[in-house]
Amino acid sequence: MAGSNRNLLVLPGDGIGPEVMNEVRKVIAWMGKKRAVGFDIQEDVVGGSALDKHGVPLSDATMKTALEADAVLFGSVGGPKWDNVEFDKKPERGLLRLRKEMDLFANLRPAKVFDALVDASALRPEIVKGLDIMIIRELTGGVYFGEPRGVTTLPNGEKEAIDTQRYKSSEIRRVCAVAFELARKRKNKVCSSEKANVMHTGVLWRQEATKLHQESYKDVELSHMYADALAMQLVRWPAQFDVIVTDNLFGDILSDEASMLTGSLGMLPSASLGAPDATGRRKALYEPIHGSAPDIAGKGLANPIAEALSFAMMLRFSFDLGTEADLVEKAIENVLAAGYRTADLLGGKSEGVKKVGTQEMGDAIVKELDRLA
Ligand code: NAD
Repeated sequence: MAGSNRNLLVLPGDGIGPEVMNEVRKVIAWMGKKRAVGFDIQEDVVGGSALDKHGVPLSDATMKTALEADAVLFGSVGGPKWDNVEFDKKPERGLLRLRKEMDLFANLRPAKVFDALVDASALRPEIVKGLDIMIIRELTGGVYFGEPRGVTTLPNGEKEAIDTQRYKSSEIRRVCAVAFELARKRKNKVCSSEKANVMHTGVLWRQEATKLHQESYKDVELSHMYADALAMQLVRWPAQFDVIVTDNLFGDILSDEASMLTGSLGMLPSASLGAPDATGRRKALYEPIHGSAPDIAGKGLANPIAEALSFAMMLRFSFDLGTEADLVEKAIENVLAAGYRTADLLGGKSEGVKKVGTQEMGDAIVKELDRLA
């Protein structure tokens, strides 16, 4: 919709990316038509499809558009066709360039269990029922980027590999601030996680989280937990958590662990946020957790819910459209409660469920939106 003042860059990518994005387009169109929430949409290629078209996994022109957009909605990249291209041209480099140049330092990964899917979890239903946690992973610092790094050969001929975990106070504070702000809109609890018992970066992390809490967020409940203990508590009693904030490495591992609490990869959205500008708006990229799923691409089997939930996160975090985000989430919850299941959600069940493909799931969500509105 022209003149909407909401500039959105849509990058469907490869494999099932374009398929699930097609279904989200229906939800976007519904928002314009039924809620007068319009978007100025630009669409472009990324990953393998950009490599085929431009010879690079993300062109400079696309990067510029992303930097100017209010939000980027991303599908997925990669696939066997590009498995053997040189390292700098790999489809994933397109996504990494976006994250780096947009300086998206806070990665938000919700782990929410829908009642209808409680049996799909790797854990017992009584442990995960009603689960709704948010893991915030620091995304641009820590051991994946710290210098010095590399492999050297020692004088005795033996090899030595080095990675460096480094964090500055400012890097810790800005991601913890995101956690505190978010907790205020949820159950008002933050658990900050590190290994302050054995790591200097952990000691600083704990000090900075505590200091920031004292300075600006005393109303939020703050606890600290060593990352190994947290890994254990996530499977023992996950419902004790609301917002978890942690560094890049621990966040990578813990958020994958948390995703298994919820069942299928096809259900999991994410958001990556940058620093607020003068108007308070953050650069932001929204994407499902899953990849391009070459095994099912082109077959109409992909579950579009993770992409649709990523769009709902965008409504909430980039455009402050909480009511509309709630609507999308509620429509998805109701469609699942009515028994609609893509193949990934079946888990061997066939009774009381309606097996559907990608498009039917998208249509069912839009139909439910109509009913709810
Ligand atoms: P994947 O997430 O693509 O698939 C893992 C399994 O989950 C597959 O069996 C797939 O069919 C299933 N699956 C994933 N999403 C689904 C959905 N929406 N509905 C139904 N089933 C779904 O991971 P992979 O197989 O390890 O990687 C495949 C390709 O994707 C690789 O090229 C990899 O590099 C790339 N990848 C990209 C991203 C990204 O774009 N952010 C993330 C992970 C992997």
